[in-house]
Amino acid sequence: MNILILGNGQLGQMLGKAVIQQGHQCVLYSDREHKVMALGSQQALSLSLDEAKNWADVVTWEHEHLADDLVSRTQDKFLLKAERFKQLTDRRSQKALCDELGIPTSPWQAFEDAEQLQQILENTEKPVVIKSARGGYDGKGQWRWKPGQDISPLAMDAGQRAGIVEDMIAFTHEVSVVAARDHHGEQRGYPLTVNVHQDGILAYSMAGAQQFSEALEQQAQEYHQKLTDHIDYIGVLAIEFFVVGDGDNQQLLVNEIAPRVHNSGHWTMSGANCDQFNLHIRCITGLPLPDFLVAPTLMINAIGVDGLPEVLWEASAADCHWYGKDPRPGRKVGHVNFMIDTFERGEKLASQWCNELQVLA
Ligand code: ATP
Ligand code: MG
Ligand code: MG
Repeated sequence: MNILILGNGQLGQMLGKAVIQQGHQCVLYSDREHKVMALGSQQALSLSLDEAKNWADVVTWEHEHLADDLVSRTQDKFLLKAERFKQLTDRRSQKALCDELGIPTSPWQAFEDAEQLQQILENTEKPVVIKSARGGYDGKGQWRWKPGQDISPLAMDAGQRAGIVEDMIAFTHEVSVVAARDHHGEQRGYPLTVNVHQDGILAYSMAGAQQFSEALEQQAQEYHQKLTDHIDYIGVLAIEFFVVGDGDNQQLLVNEIAPRVHNSGHWTMSGANCDQFNLHIRCITGLPLPDFLVAPTLMINAIGVDGLPEVLWEASAADCHWYGKDPRPGRKVGHVNFMIDTFERGEKLASQWCNELQVLA
């Protein structure tokens, strides 16, 4: 099959490799440079977007911030209705969808402008996170506020664009479910991944062994199925959750939905028989969902560094991925997967390597 991937960042590249692995062809559309590219190349192909779309059997995407007209221009091959895609790319409609489906999410209020934001904050007695409705990633487009803090300057800044005000959640863990739904409506996911963020950006993830109760694992998969059934989604979609409460009272609150492959699923490249990229391509080309075999794995993001230490490239226990991007503080430039026997070992490795692999600001 011929596949057009919208977006040409690292997720698009990793999707492209899975396309080739499965014997299909792909081109990628850089929506920043407005060019069609071959996999692994910086050179544009002499192919317009419309020509690439006509060539393709299926259009897929690596990120949720695609311009509306890009989605409408490729809609006949795009595996999700444009209005559903749009619903998921705006935090207001995304949160409203969770409420509509009875999927618990962190309490929130929408605002349209600085004046409305100011009003909300004047009536707020708890610490909150303010998030732009569209376009944020890696913690960008977010502000924190607590009662007693000056409102006006913040409201002017954060209120430049529409957004939401969310309660600050005292979570015990952050987790995500990375799972897929196929053409027949079958859904299957990896075990919950634990995610640790630093300054709003994913520092490391661990997964591949059950860390939570069977009930919580099942709850996450059920929320995923409910959501993806409702919007008739095909492929991999990730949901990020806050875990609140402890023991038998542990509960999941949706933080956000990412309708795509996800950074917290990169561990599957070393820790699963079928990684998230191959899983997505299997789904969109009509193959059945695989049964998963998984092993405990730690994934550490390389952020803002100029390369990975030689000792990691040399170590057989470390699976190194370098994206070939110019390093800038706070920019994801690669990741390293470590096979681990226990999560305690994973925590030790994370504290050993995160500083060395991450330049945040
Ligand atoms: P991503 O790169 O995952 O798309 P993003 O920029 O879309 O991130 P969020 O996932 O909404 O942003 O937030 C980034 C991180 O900030 C969260 O993973 C969490 O650590 C923290 N955070 C966000 N909202 C809250 C909240 N309501 N309470 C506590 N922490 C929060
Ligand atoms: Mg996000
Ligand atoms: Mg997030």
